[in-house]
Amino acid sequence: MGSLQKAISLGADGVIVRCGTCLNRRVFRAREALKLFGASVSTSAIHKLCRCKCGARATHSVANWPLRARGGSEPLPCVPKEWGRLP
Ligand SMILES: [Zn+2]
Repeated sequence: MGSLQKAISLGADGVIVRCGTCLNRRVFRAREALKLFGASVSTSAIHKLCRCKCGARATHSVANWPLRARGGSEPLPCVPKEWGRLP
């Protein structure tokens, strides 16, 4: 997976961080994420730098790609080809 800077340059608006304990989900917008985590950190490692408001360490983080609806189904994240496959 690539850096936060690369994700943002490909169209992501920051990162989504999830907590496996309370299932809380938090979005850090691009500007906020860059300020908090720096440009070179991997988007899939950002959760290691966060603690959830429930007190547990966050367990998962992904780039916040724009959502696209396809044919009436639930909108799905639109991951650019240049980024590679999701884990
Ligand atoms: Zn939590």
